[in-house]
Amino acid sequence: MPAKKLVLIVVDGMTPAAFERAVEGARAPALAFLAAHGVYRRGTSVFPSLTPVCLSSIATGSGPGVHHIPHLVWWHRRERRIVEYGSSFAALRAAGMTQSITDTIYNMNRRHLAADAVTVYEALEDAGLVTAAVNITCYRGGTRYLPTLPWVTKPAYGPKRFFFYSLFESDETGAPLAVRDRAGGSTDTYAAAVGRWLVTRDGFDFLAYYLSDFDYASHAHGPEGADEIALERIDAAIQSLLDAAGGGDAFLERYAVVLVSDHGQTTVEQAARLETPLAPFEGEIVVTASNRAGQVYLLPGARATAAALAEHLDGEPSVEVTLRREDGEAVARREGEELRFHPADGSGWQTSGDASILDHPDAMGRVWSALANPNAGELLVSAAEGWEYMDIGGRHHAGGGSHGSLVAGDSVVPVLTIGVDAEIERITDITPAAIAHFDAV
Ligand SMILES: [Zn+2]
Repeated sequence: MPAKKLVLIVVDGMTPAAFERAVEGARAPALAFLAAHGVYRRGTSVFPSLTPVCLSSIATGSGPGVHHIPHLVWWHRRERRIVEYGSSFAALRAAGMTQSITDTIYNMNRRHLAADAVTVYEALEDAGLVTAAVNITCYRGGTRYLPTLPWVTKPAYGPKRFFFYSLFESDETGAPLAVRDRAGGSTDTYAAAVGRWLVTRDGFDFLAYYLSDFDYASHAHGPEGADEIALERIDAAIQSLLDAAGGGDAFLERYAVVLVSDHGQTTVEQAARLETPLAPFEGEIVVTASNRAGQVYLLPGARATAAALAEHLDGEPSVEVTLRREDGEAVARREGEELRFHPADGSGWQTSGDASILDHPDAMGRVWSALANPNAGELLVSAAEGWEYMDIGGRHHAGGGSHGSLVAGDSVVPVLTIGVDAEIERITDITPAAIAHFDAV
């Protein structure tokens, strides 16, 4: 029997606790229906646990060491400029609005995403399948699209069915504009309309269906407050897929499902500028920080070393752990103590030093991949609980929620599978599971 078609639902920023509350309560009937028919576990995200990094990891089945998307904001060494994918509107403006929009819409996929990382759309379409992507920021595929805006003429390359915030649309669906009222949920309303259209026509073998509103609400209201604002909207966007198939049972007859989040969220009370403690190194470094992770890049000719920067950050309350590479090893430093590690022959890790420095979920693998990214800074910073870094526009979410660090709350995600014969323990396991599901290896 051929494999069922597969729907991947990504709910941005939904913590396992939020998912578990949702399926136990009465306010999310679609999530509860799917949970009752599936296998649920908690999985881990990547580091930094920030959406562009996470969605690229989901769509390529690899960490940042392979796909090369390092953060929401990073220093492009060759072009000697900041790349900003949208930490905030003010950050986009500070980095240059036209450049930032080009980076976010085009360059992330065409230039920054590693050429030799294979997206799930590329892999499955090479095997003769039809893939679809709705709003997911990692979309690279083989079909050329011109934007719906007549004054923008640059093409993007996506899967055969491609819908991206009303800007690229492979088909005329009649969906309302995605960007008319972000806080009011217009992005997910757009996704739901497109999803309904796709399921009604059964117009794909694999669908990546990305919902961003939960994260947006969680940043503003905290990981617990997001339920009130966005849970019912998210659930309605999922229900619209089920309804389009003729109800939940009919949906599951036709489709296998993977439902995940890309990262968690934790409450933040305080905001810091990572540039401030590093001021003595001005002129030698570039700091890029946003949400709960930072990066420090050494400029050519810098006398400072990553080790010196790490030592300098000892005692900085916003910093929980710094990470760097030295002599072929990864070095994690926390409160003056260090842990060194590298992959062991066979499997596992060869370590020396205090292992409790990296007591975070799946920490060594995530850190190793982050440090292997050629676009990453020489020093990576994972924020302490409760702290957030201001972006280059001076914005932060103190009083609300954020994510990006190695801590469990930012890193652990809900994973629900229905009809997929794979144990997905990390978000990087999803694409390999999809490829195996279709026997498209
Ligand atoms: Zn977020």
